Amino acid sequence: MKNLPRALILDLDDTILESYGNPDTAWLQLCREFAGSLGDVTAEELQAAVLQARDWYWSDAERARRGRLEVLQARRDILLRAFAEFNVPDSPLVTRMGERYNQIRDEAIWPFPGAIATLRRLQTTDIRLGLLTNGNAEMQRAKIERFSVAEYFDHVQIEGEFGIGKPDERAFRHALEALSVEPTEAWMVGDNLDFDIRGAQQVGIHAIWVDTHGNGLPDGTIVQPDTTIKSLPDIVKLIS
Ligand SMILES: [Mg+2]
Repeated sequence: MKNLPRALILDLDDTILESYGNPDTAWLQLCREFAGSLGDVTAEELQAAVLQARDWYWSDAERARRGRLEVLQARRDILLRAFAEFNVPDSPLVTRMGERYNQIRDEAIWPFPGAIATLRRLQTTDIRLGLLTNGNAEMQRAKIERFSVAEYFDHVQIEGEFGIGKPDERAFRHALEALSVEPTEAWMVGDNLDFDIRGAQQVGIHAIWVDTHGNGLPDGTIVQPDTTIKSLPDIVKLIS
């Protein structure tokens, strides 16, 4: 049996907050709202082009890193690439759609059932708590404030503020230092196999994967979590 940790480092999006629940549906909603402005294009055709452009955009690690930090620009780049399919030029519409998409996604964000209660429960233990999240400083900070998440944590670290994100080991080392623990004394809990699990394991942190969507490990993945849980509240059993 693994020793209990002195510190827990938690991911935010899709670990505490349901953030990326159904992006395909959100794009479809956007396309329905705007397809009429693009001439002879149906919402479904536009959505198909957008999803293809979206997959292309996020498939490159460096492009994705920039996109996380400049989210509106990422939305614009995706939309422009989709627009090109229909010979629609760049226009103020791209920015309006990008902003509207961010708004649709924002409205859908909510803490998972039991997630805040779990943070409250963890706060009553001696375990130090760190929040380690990738993304744009303003957007992540806004989410943290909207759901009053910061008050549960001894250390909050946002990629856009710190300058380095997961899975870069410097992000993990900084969090460990801020929590005054060694890698072997910490557990990382997150939903992203590459950022959270591989990232934590490379510095020697015990990595707990939250299988948020209940799909199990994807075929062909080389990342092996040390432990898998279904949702954040399951962590309570592991530490009691
Ligand atoms: Mg996540």
